[in-house]
Amino acid sequence: MISPGPARPSPVRVPPAAAPAAPGAGTLLRLLRDGRPRTRSELAGVTGLARSTVTQRVDALLAAGLIGPAGEAASTGGRPPTTFAFVPSARVVLAADLGATKARVALTDMAGQVLAESRADLDVARGPEPVLDWLVARGDDLLDRAGRRRADVLGVGIGLPGPVEHSTGRAVNPPIMPGWDGFDVPGYVGERFAGPVLVDNDVNIMALGEHFACWAEASHLMFVKVATGIGCGIISDGGVYRGAKGAAGDMGHIQVPHGAGHPCRCGNTGCLEAVASGAAIAAELTGQGVEARTALDVVDLARSGSVAALQSLRQAGRDIGEVLAASVNMLNPSIIVIGGSLALAGDHLLAGVREVIYQRSLPLATEDLRIVSSRMGERAGVIGAAVMVLDYGLSPERVDVLVSG
Ligand SMILES: [Zn+2]
Repeated sequence: MISPGPARPSPVRVPPAAAPAAPGAGTLLRLLRDGRPRTRSELAGVTGLARSTVTQRVDALLAAGLIGPAGEAASTGGRPPTTFAFVPSARVVLAADLGATKARVALTDMAGQVLAESRADLDVARGPEPVLDWLVARGDDLLDRAGRRRADVLGVGIGLPGPVEHSTGRAVNPPIMPGWDGFDVPGYVGERFAGPVLVDNDVNIMALGEHFACWAEASHLMFVKVATGIGCGIISDGGVYRGAKGAAGDMGHIQVPHGAGHPCRCGNTGCLEAVASGAAIAAELTGQGVEARTALDVVDLARSGSVAALQSLRQAGRDIGEVLAASVNMLNPSIIVIGGSLALAGDHLLAGVREVIYQRSLPLATEDLRIVSSRMGERAGVIGAAVMVLDYGLSPERVDVLVSG
């Protein structure tokens, strides 16, 4: 007798679609984050919520200290209604930009304003525990200086000088960070402070910082860091574009024509970084008899008028422009920001970048494209690390959790 086969699965029953959840307290806070005070009835008008529901949500936000009364609106007859506004000082964000040899930590409010800041020479190659212990100690100092407590921390944002898997906050095979591969940064730092710990690579947070502080109206921006190495952070539709594994924007190892035959630290030859990075330019100048060891030496030479340094920077700009010209056709940004230590050397790098992009990219893609130097300079990273925490920690979903206790 033939045994009966496995029962056929019954057709999957699809439950009736749930009605979309009514906007919670977090949605109200998102409206109020623009700083403009609003009355309960204005909030009801914008969200479509009943007045009684708005009152509940407003009360919850008031109880959490995230909003406060902000005076009275003009009366339309009778008692003038109270307005409510976002209180950026309700919580603080601890933001860190850990570079290869330099570190900067800042405490900001929830509008991204720096309340206290600290910087130091710190070698990231010392390993995760000493470096993160330093970060925690500096964080406590900054909290003291600002008269705040660990419990006031909305979250911690950290930028690292290597590839990072953003979803887990772990560095992945970082070339200049021995001991960091796979280390649980959020787990280690999260034991010390309240709130989530978010980690990304240094170039992505610089892109976020520059975008937030200087180009918030532009939804599509590319930030290129030209220093010892070369990397790019991409802002797409207002958020960081990381790609499938967080490797998006790693433009330093794309081949350029002028790089033919030049060996690169990644093992290939002809990479952009092998000819246009601070390290590559310094080596080339030294080969020509002009002594330079680091990117900052190149900057000093350029500032003192060294023709060899200026020519090298112009050519590096053209090489970077080669890669960016292709990226402009692919991604159509409206702003390209050139930052990193080599951008401090003046306009020669920028001029080389512009020369090639406007010549090579499609007219439609360059019609409204602006190519500019970083305005935030060395502070872009910590501001961006704070913005990364604010975007996540003040998302409507997180705020709903926060106010529900
Ligand atoms: Zn390479």
